[in-house]
Amino acid sequence: TVSENPGTGRSRILVFVRLRPLAKKEKEAGSRCCVRILNRRDVYLTEFAHENDYLRLKRLRGRHFTFDASFPDSATQQDVYLTTTAELVEAVLQGRNGSVFCYGATGAGKTYTMLGTVENPGVMVLAIKDLFTKIRRRSSDGNHAVHLSYLEVYNETVRDLLSPGRPLVLREDKQGIVAAGLTQYRAYSTDEVMALLQQGNLNRTTEPTRVNETSSRSHAILQVVVEYRVKDASMNVVNRVGKLSLIDLAGSERALATDQRTLRSLEGANINRSLLALSSCINALVEGKKHIPYRNSKLTQLLKDSLGGACNTVMIANISPSNLSFGETQNTLHWADRAK
Ligand code: ADP
Ligand code: MG
Repeated sequence: TVSENPGTGRSRILVFVRLRPLAKKEKEAGSRCCVRILNRRDVYLTEFAHENDYLRLKRLRGRHFTFDASFPDSATQQDVYLTTTAELVEAVLQGRNGSVFCYGATGAGKTYTMLGTVENPGVMVLAIKDLFTKIRRRSSDGNHAVHLSYLEVYNETVRDLLSPGRPLVLREDKQGIVAAGLTQYRAYSTDEVMALLQQGNLNRTTEPTRVNETSSRSHAILQVVVEYRVKDASMNVVNRVGKLSLIDLAGSERALATDQRTLRSLEGANINRSLLALSSCINALVEGKKHIPYRNSKLTQLLKDSLGGACNTVMIANISPSNLSFGETQNTLHWADRAK
């Protein structure tokens, strides 16, 4: 994975699409599949669902998208991890930073892709598992320290998901922008990680109207920091640090355009602010602009050292196959297409 095209100063962002299976409930409600993935790259979107339509669609512009890879609903968590993130884990072990985002509407499969379940762990867990395997293969354990931080940005407020409490203040220091007082959990093996992250997810801010559900309005960021000692060319021992950020973004559906004065719309505006700021940064990076507007939101401030430049950035756009989500799927595909 080379994130910077030599000579152009542009950052290359890898963009993937993952289609989730049609849910039982959706089937029972009579909803049809409106997405088809062919050749492991091409995504076709149709409001009509006859077999022949997909062929005709090849000629219809705007309804056919091509990405670095597109995962059909049969793709396993391991498929997704290996294709999207395994190389970034390798890069982190070389002392580089990287980030992986899941983008998409609520219900499209972002949390399943990132966190997954105990039976089918997602990218976050598989990345840490792979990291420990690679570390063990590489050297004696004592040389490496792995620290995990799990935080959320909700309504432009930063909170520690491993130790919930008051909002964290962002400070700029020599290492860049840091959340003051953020828990850095020293991990020694993969075993403890799933439980830790599930507990963290329960701490995500829930929506007032759906008290028992994990919020679709908070961005969750897992930061995996690997520190290790190596000998440089003159045999001096130096410390190297690599950081991998794995981000389960808030739902990308448009904020309900109801009463402008309600809390919900305020939240909507702020969630859009972080998503908008992220889009602006990604577009500026892809276009090779000198100025990247990191300062516009908490999310982009936190990820300043993990986007573009010498970093590797991966975007996974999650989509539902249901024709009931046609509009959201179309928005997500257009958004992902612009990030290429
Ligand atoms: P989001 O986080 O984008 O709101 P979720 O990840 O919670 O969406 O997914 C919505 C539902 O669909 C969940 O019940 C989840 O388990 C299921 N789901 C999502 N993706 C898959 C998949 N690839 N395979 C099986 N079930 C999935
Ligand atoms: Mg979710």
